[in-house]
Amino acid sequence: MSKTLSAHVCIVGAGPVGGTLACRLAGAGISVVLIDQATLPPMENPAFDGRAYAIAAGSRCLLEAAGLWDALDVPPNPIHDIRVSDGRIGRPPSRLHLHFDHRQAGDEPRPFGWMVEARSLRKALNARFPMQAGLHLFAPAKASVTRSNDGAVVRLENGPTIRCRLVIAAEGRNSPLREQAGIQVTRIPYHQTAIVCAIAHEHPHHDLALEHFLPSGPFAALPMGPSVDAEPGGAAHVSAIVWTERTKDAVAFMALDDARFAREAGRRLGPHLGAIRAVGRRWSYPLSAMIAHRYVDTRLALAGDAAHGIHPIAGQGLNLGFRDGITLADLIIEAVQAGEDVGGEALLARYQGVRRSDNLLMFAMTDGIDRLFSTDRRVVRAARDLGISAVNRLGPMKRVFMRRAMGVGAANGESTSSIAGHAPSA
Ligand SMILES: Cc1cc2nc3c(=O)[nH]c(=O)nc-3n(C[C@H](O)[C@H](O)[C@H](O)COP(=O)(O)OP(=O)(O)OC[C@H]3O[C@@H](n4cnc5c(N)ncnc54)[C@H](O)[C@@H]3O)c2cc1C
Repeated sequence: MSKTLSAHVCIVGAGPVGGTLACRLAGAGISVVLIDQATLPPMENPAFDGRAYAIAAGSRCLLEAAGLWDALDVPPNPIHDIRVSDGRIGRPPSRLHLHFDHRQAGDEPRPFGWMVEARSLRKALNARFPMQAGLHLFAPAKASVTRSNDGAVVRLENGPTIRCRLVIAAEGRNSPLREQAGIQVTRIPYHQTAIVCAIAHEHPHHDLALEHFLPSGPFAALPMGPSVDAEPGGAAHVSAIVWTERTKDAVAFMALDDARFAREAGRRLGPHLGAIRAVGRRWSYPLSAMIAHRYVDTRLALAGDAAHGIHPIAGQGLNLGFRDGITLADLIIEAVQAGEDVGGEALLARYQGVRRSDNLLMFAMTDGIDRLFSTDRRVVRAARDLGISAVNRLGPMKRVFMRRAMGVGAANGESTSSIAGHAPSA
């Protein structure tokens, strides 16, 4: 095919970040070409990805603006409380803990976030792409990109040639476009693996998300809605767990039978949910962190995991990617409305200026928290328990933490954004 297409923007990578940004831009009348190297429909199968994302309020606003929130087939479960505690395996959590109650976060109480299944988001995206006027999707497709000051040309193998003003790399951690542009990255290997699965439990979770810090890595239990297919007859009380262990130990835990796996998970979780059963299959994700030294190059912007990857300790990786998307969407829409160049140097510099500092802060915070809590030394344990208890008692500091977790803090590009920081619809 020798056809040529023209578009304002070409997004490479139709994952949660690239796909959502494409829908948001097309919905605002921007012409977008979206390309993914993979065949998309299998990504919505239950066997493809077991993750459930903790989605902050700011991210929900983006999903709403992109027409995706109401299309999620599994209703997102709100997170009303967050409890952070320090502990040791098999022992009750320390009495000095941090408790965040959504009613204390602001004048109008709203949840800290919502648990959204990765599979459900992929399903909503795949259904939305063909319905969106102004969005051309090519998947599976292999793209080669040439960029110059005058514009970018994207050639698809066995497909059209696309001429555009800006290319957005949203290809995930191993972004070929980032490498092609010679953008250096800093990587941190964690030698940890996250085990992810669902558990059914005896007592309700009351929309509480628990983060229990253990010497081998954090253990999180995140509140999900009742599940019809978790086990025969369904399960009324379900949580998603993200259980981080040193990689060699994670391999052994992954191989345990269901009963022993549940027993080990229970030793880390504590007794508050009563008897637990592991349901469905288990997934494992080796962990590392990465941050790109630059987010832009001539006619190129990096977004989502192509620009940064962080430890899942605070469930913020995708939220950062969505904040990249919010900032990019605002700048692009504004430029098109003003008749300006959407891939111009000024726009790219503004994007990098807003997003890199916010992402760098979260990169450093998540890495620091993992290091601080992954040690069992008595002095460090005592100091961090005192720190936890002090923050718990300091109202203003707690409020800052809570607003950051919700994705509505000032560093999120809130001041320039048309959607972040607005209350999500009821
Ligand atoms: C255990 C775990 C738990 C997590 N929990 C949370 C959480 O609770 N909350 C949260 O906010 N984040 C969480 N995250 C982080 C989150 O999963 C990632 O930040 C998110 O998936 C990044 O999305 P993305 O669209 O940038 O990249 P990806 O999800 O990696 O998508 C990239 C897309 O690009 C495509 N692609 C790749 N290469 C090419 C190419 N060369 N050409 C074309 N297309 C290409 C791929 O097929 C894919 O569709 C968690 C991560 C882990 C590991």
